[in-house]
Amino acid sequence: MSKASLVSIHGGHSGEFCCHADDTLKQVIEAYIKQGFLWVGITEHIPPPSDDFVYPIEQRDGFDAAKLYDRFSVYMEAVKSFQNEYGHDIEILVGFETEAYSGYIEHNQQLINEFKPDYIVGSVHHVNDLDFDSNAAEYEKATLKAGGLIELYTQYFDLQYELIETLKPSVIGHFDLIRIFDLNYRETIQHPEIAERIDRNLTLIAKLGLIIEYNLKAWQKGADEPYLSESILQKAIDMEISIVPGDDSHGVKTVGMNLNRGIEILKKLGVSTSWEKPRTVDHTSLA
Ligand SMILES: [Zn+2]
Ligand SMILES: [Zn+2]
Repeated sequence: MSKASLVSIHGGHSGEFCCHADDTLKQVIEAYIKQGFLWVGITEHIPPPSDDFVYPIEQRDGFDAAKLYDRFSVYMEAVKSFQNEYGHDIEILVGFETEAYSGYIEHNQQLINEFKPDYIVGSVHHVNDLDFDSNAAEYEKATLKAGGLIELYTQYFDLQYELIETLKPSVIGHFDLIRIFDLNYRETIQHPEIAERIDRNLTLIAKLGLIIEYNLKAWQKGADEPYLSESILQKAIDMEISIVPGDDSHGVKTVGMNLNRGIEILKKLGVSTSWEKPRTVDHTSLA
């Protein structure tokens, strides 16, 4: 049986451009080349629209929104130049990963217009403007603010639906990230109000022909399966949605981590390993 190509549709975060990652972007890209990746999407986090959404770790490092914006523009320039420089060794796709806090639609659209990425990864890390994925205490706060765990999930999936409908990101990042600190998530996602939203979002993704990332970083964070959870993954496969692995790397050490293990699961479930590349944004239509 032929070996599946190594690709990653979401990752390439680097310590140079992200406060919770390690190493330089050049080192990260060279690690992908060394491992023989066919193509890789470099999708750094976006800068926030205001100081309200500067993460504590970024404040600690002396960043405010303006400085994060400046760093992001240096990132976009750097990754585009590596795209040319390393073009013979690896195909680099230039992207970024969204946020979904207040004002995110206009903010992401502005960043798309200004920096013209090849594509974006649509990710939700906040519900009601509270970041829920940094640690269990923040998750608890977000749960309280949402009005309970079921509400946290339903509000997350409603926000994700809005993001997909408005921004139409080529790739949906870690679709069920909201389960991150819920040990009982396999049961939680069966709750009728949550299950119907999952089905609704998958139906929209299928209709728009978008790709869902199979996010392998979940394993690193102690989960026993990637995002998507197997029951959701099976639904996505039944709807013929393209699934493509993402290592969500945050430094050289996590480049390609668990990729083969993830590919084995996808193969067993009959997912095609002729990985679909993200559709590039048509910037002329957005002007
Ligand atoms: Zn990150
Ligand atoms: Zn993310």
